[in-house]
Amino acid sequence: MFSAHLINDPFGDPGVYIEFKYRRSALLFDLGDLHSLNPRKLLKISHIFVSHTHMDHFIGFDYLLRVCLGRDRHIFLYGPPGFHEQVENKLRAYTWNLVENYQNDFALHITEVHPDCKRVRLYRCRTAFQPEEEDPAEIFNGTLVEGSYFSVRGVFLDHKIPCLAYRFEEKNRVNVMKNVLQEMGIPVGAWLVDLKDRILGGEPDDTPIRIWRRHEGKEGEERFMSLGELKSSVVKITPGQAITYVTDAVYSDDNVKKIVELARASEILFIEATFLHEDADKASQKYHLTAFQAGKLARMAGVKRISLFHFSPKYKGSGEILVEEAMRAFKD
Ligand SMILES: [Zn+2]
Repeated sequence: MFSAHLINDPFGDPGVYIEFKYRRSALLFDLGDLHSLNPRKLLKISHIFVSHTHMDHFIGFDYLLRVCLGRDRHIFLYGPPGFHEQVENKLRAYTWNLVENYQNDFALHITEVHPDCKRVRLYRCRTAFQPEEEDPAEIFNGTLVEGSYFSVRGVFLDHKIPCLAYRFEEKNRVNVMKNVLQEMGIPVGAWLVDLKDRILGGEPDDTPIRIWRRHEGKEGEERFMSLGELKSSVVKITPGQAITYVTDAVYSDDNVKKIVELARASEILFIEATFLHEDADKASQKYHLTAFQAGKLARMAGVKRISLFHFSPKYKGSGEILVEEAMRAFKD
């Protein structure tokens, strides 16, 4: 279970924050101005997917670094060709002479994505963010993350430069039927997260699950039930949802095909709608989509909902006309 929302208003810098409920964890698409996210929210982020490094998509890097410094955090960042050098240039802009004494382990795992391969470099705060030896390149077949409860895919779009669009997919949803728990006299509590992880991880039915709850700050009584027993009585498993994030792309046959394929049947498509369709020439010169094109792509992909962003400042004060245009094309 997760929630997903734009971090700024549609005229502000692009960015989508996906937060997992019941886990202290979140993902971020794009790294523009992040000041709308408070440090508590920023510190939940484990993975960040940068579409490209135009300033409005990458200026938040410094703020993120500032908030995470001195914390035990490992953050995984993904970006297009040239990403390592750009991250390194940002890191080199500061003096790091005192960090070797830090107690904690803050590290950045940076994946530079190329059309055919992924290259990962590690940068640790304690070694002044000097790049560590790079792992051998891995083949890139579209998948960037394949986790136990979510996966993320990426595809290169044409924005006059390579620009990554992303699809986040939740693995199956494990819904706990609290009324059944209550009837069975089983307490709700943190053990349910462990149960869900084990179900999603495909563990065998005879795995013992420890059921416990905290009572007055202490761990109270515990009992054990098998995973199979719990799976058949207290949970309902439904397919997970997908979220797609598309920004900064020209409306071309190739981009259309890739976007429709990536966004297929998403719960929400977050998509740029930079210009009105009457300014389609300008949109194509600047390698952006119009609101009409965004709505049409959403319809072609059969998504459930759209969320529009990256509005050009020329429409400031009348963002609703961009929304109306996109919605007309979406629902048509
Ligand atoms: Zn942009």
